[in-house]
Amino acid sequence: MRLIFLGPPGAGKGTQAKVISKKFNYPHISTGDILRESVKNNSPVGRQAKGYMDRGELVPDEIVTRIVVERLGRPDASAGFILDGFPRTKKQAVELDKEFKKAGIGIDYAIYFETSEPVVISRLSGRRVCEKCGLNYHITNIRPKKENTCDACGGALFQREDDKVETIKKRLNVYKNQTADLIDYYKDKGVLETVSGDLSVEEVFKALSVLFNKRINDRS
Ligand code: AMP
Repeated sequence: MRLIFLGPPGAGKGTQAKVISKKFNYPHISTGDILRESVKNNSPVGRQAKGYMDRGELVPDEIVTRIVVERLGRPDASAGFILDGFPRTKKQAVELDKEFKKAGIGIDYAIYFETSEPVVISRLSGRRVCEKCGLNYHITNIRPKKENTCDACGGALFQREDDKVETIKKRLNVYKNQTADLIDYYKDKGVLETVSGDLSVEEVFKALSVLFNKRINDRS
C-alpha cells in the first residue's frame, strides 16, 4: 500500500507510521527524521535545512522533494511506503504526482489525522526525545522509568528546539497556511480518509488497521 499521512505537527502521524510500518512491512519515510539525521551528521543538506527547522519554517521544496524522490526509488519502497510529513505544500504534492505518473503508480490513501489545537500543543510541548536512539517520551503521558533517561538505551532526554511553545505556534500557522489545503487536494482525488488524531495511540491504530486490512482483503 502507498500511504500519505497528513495532519498538523503533533497529530501522531509519526507514532502511527512506526507501528503500521512494522505491522505491514512498508518503509516509514519521514522527511522530518531524514532532515534531523542530516543536521546531526552536519551534511550539506543538514547545513541548509537547520535554520528553517529551528525556526519552525518549511525547508525549501526543492531540497525536500529531492530527498523523497531519491528515497522512493530504493528497492524497499517498491511494494509500498508510508510518507509522513511529505508533501507539505501544493508544489511538493504536484511534484510527487509527476513522479508517480512516471512510475505508473498511484497512492492508496491519504490519511488525514484531524487533531484539535490544545491536544497538539500539549503533546508537542511535553515531548522529550532520546539524544541517542531517538525514542519519544512525554513529561506526563509517557514518562521514562528514570527521570530524563531513556528506558531503552540510557541516553539523555532533551526537548527539540522546535517543540518550544512559541515555535509550536509558528509551526501550526505554517501548517494552516501552507499544508492544510492538501486535505482538499487529496479529497478531490478520491483517496482521502480521516481519522481522529485526538484519540489514543491504540484507538487510532485500530481504525487504521480496519481500513488497511479491508483494502488488502478486497485485493486478494
Ligand atoms: P516534522 O518532524 O515532520 O514536524 O518536521 C520537522 C521540520 O522539518 C519541519 O518543521 C520543517 O522545518 C522540516 N520539514 C519536514 N518535512 C518537510 C517538508 N515536507 N517540507 C518542508 N519542510 C519539512
